Amino acid sequence: MTASMTVEQARELLLERVHPLEVERVDLLEALGRVLAQDMRSDIDVAPFDNSAMDGFAVRAADLATASEETPARLRVIEHIAAGDAPTLTVGSGEAARIMTGAPVPQGADAVVMVEYSEAVEGDGGTGSLVALSRAVVKGENVRKQGEEVRAGDVVLNAGETVGAAGIGLLASTGHAQVPVYRRPRVAVISTGSELVEVDQTPGPGKIRNSNSYSVSAQVAAAGAIPLRFGIVPDDMQATRDAFTRAAAEADFIVTSGGVSVGDFDYVKPVLEELGELMYCKVAMRPGNPQTMGVISGVPFFGLPGNPTSTFVGFEMFVRPAIRRMLGHTALDRPVTLARLAHDVRKKPDRRYYLRGRISRGADGLEVALSGSQSSALLTAAHRGNCFMVLPEGEQQFSTGQIVECIRLDMEEGTVV
Ligand code: AMP
Ligand code: MG
Repeated sequence: MTASMTVEQARELLLERVHPLEVERVDLLEALGRVLAQDMRSDIDVAPFDNSAMDGFAVRAADLATASEETPARLRVIEHIAAGDAPTLTVGSGEAARIMTGAPVPQGADAVVMVEYSEAVEGDGGTGSLVALSRAVVKGENVRKQGEEVRAGDVVLNAGETVGAAGIGLLASTGHAQVPVYRRPRVAVISTGSELVEVDQTPGPGKIRNSNSYSVSAQVAAAGAIPLRFGIVPDDMQATRDAFTRAAAEADFIVTSGGVSVGDFDYVKPVLEELGELMYCKVAMRPGNPQTMGVISGVPFFGLPGNPTSTFVGFEMFVRPAIRRMLGHTALDRPVTLARLAHDVRKKPDRRYYLRGRISRGADGLEVALSGSQSSALLTAAHRGNCFMVLPEGEQQFSTGQIVECIRLDMEEGTVV
């Protein structure tokens, strides 16, 4: 199948072929940003015991029912409880325990009075002192209850949730030194082109540096996957065959750049057809027709065009959602916001355009301007931009002030806008 299809159809065909990878257990901190593969339960109550929310005095609320600045309650301090201590005494009527934040509330006490409302009448406020407390408290005041966060055996984080810093903290307090998450895909990044030289070389006549290998690998890493940067593959049938065969053996997904046009030395399509299956190679978008989709030995293959910005856009629109699905994410789309055009834009009526733009907040809300030359051979506009301005197929003339859709590259998938 080689007829041109819409971006949506092409995405659908690719996404049907990718699935969350198998589950691995990783050290807690490595779970940051990953998707949980199982419900996580707590082994203990959190908090494990009733504890004080303040530095102050643990008391029986009934003893302070009428306490005020004029008529403070006078209590004898029987114990001094620091965080980490286990109290040994029971607070009786007329008694208090000096207590620090996070320390266990002793038997008998049911509230904590802040230290700010105390005054030592005898002694220094520690064990044996007599203190005057000038504030009434209700039962439970300044006491954090056992099991307030989660009870032993209950689910603290759910399967499918992305683990953030707060989630890491919850997993730590519930005893999870290791966490089951979906494995990160290994993505082979292959640059085709006999004109390419490595970054540390000065290009000779007719040569250019292999920048796509780095930009695409960076996009792979930014999406949460592991790039396997293959060397430059010259425009040669056998070299292409060898690289694709090795990639299919080593990777969960294969991305290539270049070699998918109708040039005389474009071998990506013929080799893909020979080794596996070619699903499509044209998508009605600009930049980025052709985009080539296939499978080799069960490994999904995506052939991006060679022009650096076509590569960048194609990755963002197709490969990034596929990687996210392999990582277990269900939010696959970047947020889209509407913005007012800061200037006129013309396009050819044919395909849908994904122009590199910069969105900012103007006097009348969000506005968007092109972030540089839109030639697909140039990357600067993508570097300066923070969105793709989407201009629909069929239309031609867009005027200043007109509202357009912008795909927000500055926001993660799932962000509510
Ligand atoms: P192709 O699709 O192979 O015809 O390549 C289209 C254009 O992209 C050509 O001008 C190539 O020189 C350029 N190009 C291809 N691969 C790369 C690469 N890895 N890095 C930078 N430019 C590239
Ligand atoms: Mg080429």
